[in-house]
Amino acid sequence: MKAAIVGGGVIGGAWAARFLLHGWDVVVSDPNPKVATQVAAILANAEMCLPALADVPMPPRGKLSYANSLREAVTGADWVQESVPEQLALKHKVIAEIQAHAPAHAILGSSTSGFKPSELQEGASRPGQILVAHPFNPVYLLPLAEVVAGEAVSVKVRDQACEILRSIGMEPLVVRHEIDAHIADRFLEAVWREALWLIKDDIATTEEIDNAIRYGFGLRWGQMGLFETYRLAGGEEGMAHFIRQFGPCLAWPWTKLMDVPELDEELVNKIASQSDAQSGKYSIRELEAIRDRNLVGFLRSLKERDWGAGRILNQNDKRLAKLASVAVESSAAVPTRLLKSTVLPAWIDYNGHMTEYRYVQVFSDSCEALLRRVGLHDKYVAAGHSYYTAESHNQYFDEVGVNEPYYTTAQILMCDAKRLHVFYRMHAAADDRLLASLEAMYLHAHMQSGKVVAADKAATKKLMAMAAAHADLPKPESAGRFVGQR
Ligand code: NAD
Repeated sequence: MKAAIVGGGVIGGAWAARFLLHGWDVVVSDPNPKVATQVAAILANAEMCLPALADVPMPPRGKLSYANSLREAVTGADWVQESVPEQLALKHKVIAEIQAHAPAHAILGSSTSGFKPSELQEGASRPGQILVAHPFNPVYLLPLAEVVAGEAVSVKVRDQACEILRSIGMEPLVVRHEIDAHIADRFLEAVWREALWLIKDDIATTEEIDNAIRYGFGLRWGQMGLFETYRLAGGEEGMAHFIRQFGPCLAWPWTKLMDVPELDEELVNKIASQSDAQSGKYSIRELEAIRDRNLVGFLRSLKERDWGAGRILNQNDKRLAKLASVAVESSAAVPTRLLKSTVLPAWIDYNGHMTEYRYVQVFSDSCEALLRRVGLHDKYVAAGHSYYTAESHNQYFDEVGVNEPYYTTAQILMCDAKRLHVFYRMHAAADDRLLASLEAMYLHAHMQSGKVVAADKAATKKLMAMAAAHADLPKPESAGRFVGQR
């Protein structure tokens, strides 16, 4: 798939990174002679962060190139993302040229923060292909894209656009009625106006305003938004109670929502110098890196809880897993081959190698693959039975770096109705070298009672057959060994 990025600034460069890291070929068109440097810096940030959010391998990176003309960029493109400066006349000119050369099936998404799709579609040769796909900075990390299609775009094209956005890990929010500035920026503008007043009236500095957000309600908003947060504020009596209690306050003159302070030189300089005092010790690049690392931390935490933006990441993992290679090996090799995958960026430690606990994760995933192999799927666990790990011994033999392919094997040392004794190995796929091993004893349990009971007979028979096939293998050198016995 090919994406054409028209305008490779802050937003276009980050769109390019998101498409590239999801396997799309990307061609950038921008008359700025520094565009390649600009995009390279954004891509470097994205490469540090986006793959660190995935718990399955991302597809191989697409090919990045720069076009000498807009025509060259959009020819053969499946998606064109317009991210030129926010001037309607410029956007019209660019859109006309895009549509003259892009394939008829290509969707043209505009990053516009404020224009309505009907404004962008004015005078267009194929208005039905143009819609707003409004992202948030940094586009390579934040999943939201407001999709505003307007009446000229069919539901089919709009849904296609949403599907493509999902395929690059974004979450389309379809804005059903076109309005200036869509939903999120309209909301942010209200907050922005209030902040300007607070500074102008000497109530608070830029830093105090930022602290009011990041130490308090900003953290709530980041995971629950506005209404879910206020639902809790209403307590057991709920949302209606909250509104009846606090709604009348809105009539009191707390805010200056409708007035905009005059952005004269004095106010601009006041804000700029307060901002310098607050953040001038960091370069923009440093602040970007801080922002991105914080976002990765937030997002990973939400991912663990399958909540908010974290749920979108889990859904993206499921899509990526289908395409890619956390393959369960199916060969009849002895010892049994289980997983075949690559070392993920999120698994890398401060020293550039795979971190300790991820080996345990690999062996835990291998155990799941083994149990699936003998028919003990999620349904078996949901029905109340599982193998519990009673004892394990992990050994580390060699370092392994990011994106290195690996595979795992299992040698079954013993199996009876209630016990399973397995020796796993993790190997580098490139040269078969041994990276780590784990010896584990599992007991089959009835989960509710916590009692050890006999496992499913058919599964035990299959595990015993595997154990018999492995009986002639040499006993693993370290089987039964304890720590310090080397
Ligand atoms: P920017 O100034 O960083 O980048 C614009 C780029 O467009 C520049 O590199 C410029 O050289 C290029 N350009 C100018 N004319 C061009 C042409 N004819 N063909 C190709 N490229 C051309 O601006 P930005 O912040 O990336 O904003 C781009 C769009 O994204 C705007 O519509 C803006 O409203 C929207 N947007 C911005 C943000 C944000 O936070 N900056 C967030 C969401 C949406």
